[in-house]
Amino acid sequence: MTTVALGVESLTATVGDTPILRGVDLELPFGQIHAIMGPNGSGKSTLCHVLSGRSGYGVGGTALLAGTTLLDKPVPERAALGLMQAFQYPVEVPGVSLREFLSEAGEALGLDPAEVGERVEREASVHGMGRFLDRSLNDDLSGGEKKRSEIFQMAVLRPKVVVLDEIDSGLDIDAVREVSRAVEGMRAPEVGVLLITHYSRILRYLAPDRIHVMIDGRIVESGGAELAHELESGGYEALRARLGLEAPPRAAAPKASDFFTDTPFDL
Ligand code: ADP
Ligand code: MG
Repeated sequence: MTTVALGVESLTATVGDTPILRGVDLELPFGQIHAIMGPNGSGKSTLCHVLSGRSGYGVGGTALLAGTTLLDKPVPERAALGLMQAFQYPVEVPGVSLREFLSEAGEALGLDPAEVGERVEREASVHGMGRFLDRSLNDDLSGGEKKRSEIFQMAVLRPKVVVLDEIDSGLDIDAVREVSRAVEGMRAPEVGVLLITHYSRILRYLAPDRIHVMIDGRIVESGGAELAHELESGGYEALRARLGLEAPPRAAAPKASDFFTDTPFDL
């Protein structure tokens, strides 16, 4: 068995004629947590979308999940292979309880229903989710509770590769700390976690094995905790200067993407 949970090579993505990912290389071993950091608009969410199979992109390069090619598979097959994405904005599904959702998802993944039922009970008590089990999925949950729910769902469904897009966005500092602990708690020898974040604050509470910085659709630097410290003190501009990267062209007027940390269709 391969030790690489997710291997990405020369991954490119375009929307129409516009290149968004310009050749992403990444190796996430099983048992590790990697963080991808980058300014708004650098392509972080696009990387998630392309990995999980959202339509609308021209895609090139390769991505292997535990050695199996991903990019040629339809979305449900990617999930069945063990890919799970937590959304920046989890959708509310009135009328479908969290318990029903997990039972359906488990069935779709070919898990034993009794085993799923046991995991639901066990993990609900670990993650404090008992009182949400029979309520509609994500309905009337706070931002922090939604993130907690996503992590609980992963603990039940046990994907091989977890992609968390801006799991800290919109959370107050206590919720960031709680979510960080839960992510750290997902660390396991049979899982690889890819944590995407715009701010370095989440990295104060959890220790990724490696940090990658994405700028303009490429990973321009990888390193350890010192990279997060550099970004915290100098921002992305200082990193650009150190690496000799050109500053982004100044737009005449701010774009919507300057204010939102994700593309609007993620809502
Ligand atoms: P990040 O998540 O790092 O903030 P995104 O992956 O959301 O960045 O976006 C990367 C760039 O690609 C941005 O400039 C964004 O405006 C552009 N982009 C993303 N999706 C589309 C799309 N469907 N059509 C046109 N441009 C897009
Ligand atoms: Mg984003």
